[in-house]
Amino acid sequence: MKKVIYFLLVSASIVFICCSSDNENDVLDMIDEDNSEELVTELHNAFGAFNAEAVTVFIDGSEVVIETTGLPNHETVYWGEGNELFLQEPEVARTPSIISSNNNAVTIRIDATPNLTGNTVDTQLSTIGIAVSGASIFNDQEGNGPLNQAAASLDWTGAHIGPGVYHYHLEPKAFSNDDENLVGILLDGVFLYGRKCNSTGTYPTDLDASGGHTTETQYTEGEEEYHYHIINEIYSTTGSYLAFAGPYQGY
Ligand SMILES: [Zn+2]
Ligand SMILES: [Zn+2]
Repeated sequence: MKKVIYFLLVSASIVFICCSSDNENDVLDMIDEDNSEELVTELHNAFGAFNAEAVTVFIDGSEVVIETTGLPNHETVYWGEGNELFLQEPEVARTPSIISSNNNAVTIRIDATPNLTGNTVDTQLSTIGIAVSGASIFNDQEGNGPLNQAAASLDWTGAHIGPGVYHYHLEPKAFSNDDENLVGILLDGVFLYGRKCNSTGTYPTDLDASGGHTTETQYTEGEEEYHYHIINEIYSTTGSYLAFAGPYQGY
């Protein structure tokens, strides 16, 4: 009789151990599912393409924080005479400010996972994204007017200081010139690429109004991902292409 009771106790405790460990796993699974859309543990591969001398990227919960000095790693007239990256651009109507006497630093926080199911959101003046060079990306407006008024002050890579930070309005030819290169990341957490797409090697034909579509890119390891392209239409009299005119799709 004692043996039977002992056996029952052992059996019960085995069952109890099994069940309690199952329950724990269930609870852990539930926690995982609850947090999987919010907590991020790994930075997107594309951040490896950013100018590490200017740009620091880190994860903070469900957000990615991007801090930049705003100092681009390419030549422009806006560096000013005496800087090793100063470029003579006599045809550019340079604005008074130069990069070295300007505060170009910007910090942005983006959702690690863009929300592509909501409404679109218009872009605003000032920084709408950070380019791989470390400098800011702006939209198609200049001081509440259309950009073509300020076109004469844009340098060879579609950027100027207007005032505020040094920023690109047009295709930044210093690092994307009629190609599929990564251009930067926008405030809605969506990456912006050049006029061509890595998935086909040519100009995409299925872009939405923002220049976006969903395909593999060179940074997604075979996975499809929504991203923007510089739209392949010359803007006004600039002879070049708008970097991004909106609206955001990822807010
Ligand atoms: Zn501007
Ligand atoms: Zn694409």
